[in-house]
Amino acid sequence: MRVIHVPGADERLEILSRLAASDCEGEPGVTAPIPAAKAGFLAESVIQVRRPDGPLTVLRTMQTSACERNCRYCAFRAGRDAAPRLTLTPDELARAFDRMHRAGVVRGLFLSSGIVGGGAQAMDPMLATAELLRRVYRYTGYIHLKIMPGAQPAQIERAVQLADRVSVNLEGADAARLAAIAPQKDFHGELLSAMQHVRRLVEARGSTIRAPSLVTQYVVGPAGESDRDLLTSSSRLYREVNLARAYYSGFNPVPDTPLDGAPPTPPTREHRLYQGDWLLRFYGFALAELPFEADGSLPVGVDPKLAWARRHLRDQPVDVNRADRARLLRVPGIGPRTAEAILRARRTGRLRDLRDLSALGAAAGRAAPYVLFDGRRPAFQMSMWDAEG
Ligand code: SF4
Repeated sequence: MRVIHVPGADERLEILSRLAASDCEGEPGVTAPIPAAKAGFLAESVIQVRRPDGPLTVLRTMQTSACERNCRYCAFRAGRDAAPRLTLTPDELARAFDRMHRAGVVRGLFLSSGIVGGGAQAMDPMLATAELLRRVYRYTGYIHLKIMPGAQPAQIERAVQLADRVSVNLEGADAARLAAIAPQKDFHGELLSAMQHVRRLVEARGSTIRAPSLVTQYVVGPAGESDRDLLTSSSRLYREVNLARAYYSGFNPVPDTPLDGAPPTPPTREHRLYQGDWLLRFYGFALAELPFEADGSLPVGVDPKLAWARRHLRDQPVDVNRADRARLLRVPGIGPRTAEAILRARRTGRLRDLRDLSALGAAAGRAAPYVLFDGRRPAFQMSMWDAEG
């Protein structure tokens, strides 16, 4: 007789949380530094995510690792024998999370799931878990809920009421790219429409009621999209559904999946995409201004802002004593905070040289080739300063 070990709730939570680290759809974060005394069995599953008010330790886990869909990149795709298939009930998960929260190990929850019985059925236990935490355990902290493809409008509405953040992961830059890597997901019918619904719900809540931020994630690389394709999609979402941010998750092949032999995406590409994304969100760049190569990729060897400056500011440097905020932000080494500091400093005096610029927070070496001080170029050594870094 074969004895089958049925893991208890703690063991399932441990395994599911470890598996969630390899979930392509998870919230990115670094492993949190948990004090040894508090680490317990879930140390590797607690991540640190960046929030506006500082880093937050978050339990990243899944309601179930069972899935009926066949996304070609995913460790949990249907029929992949290597993936353990485990499930936690809402009661088990809420109780375990409450214990960890009371012990001071975590201050937030990110909950994802596989899909069994359709997206709506997968969403029910996730909502029930969040509901238990809010109503029974009186938990008021951070909850990030993934909205499952196929979730019903009423479920999306409940997620918006319960969560601080919701994610609808597009995975691909457009419908064709998504179909290449996740043939059973419907770009317009399941994903974009869910995002639009979130936007309507958030707007209806107005500014007085807490509303969650909306984020998305792309699997970068295996669909053959360009950086321009991805940033075109993101810039549209920032405009049209008030997306808070996009995550660019570099593809890593998972054994025993259809993309097993495909090359991993170099980390530099992921990094350049985030830099391009920041230029769109915080530096006032339009998509058409980003320095894409002819094939739609961002330059690999240099950050996109520096690449833009080399093309546009060498002959037209920015006078730091006269330029407005938007123009200051075009200078490599000057970010939003430094631009504000420069504008403040100009109310009471003039900036005379690179030392003054540096004292206000600028990376003066990077800025040097692209600035003027009351019409004068600063003295600098081009070879030392016109390098990335
Ligand atoms: S829906 Fe796709 S990406 Fe999500 S768990 Fe299932 S197979 Fe993986």
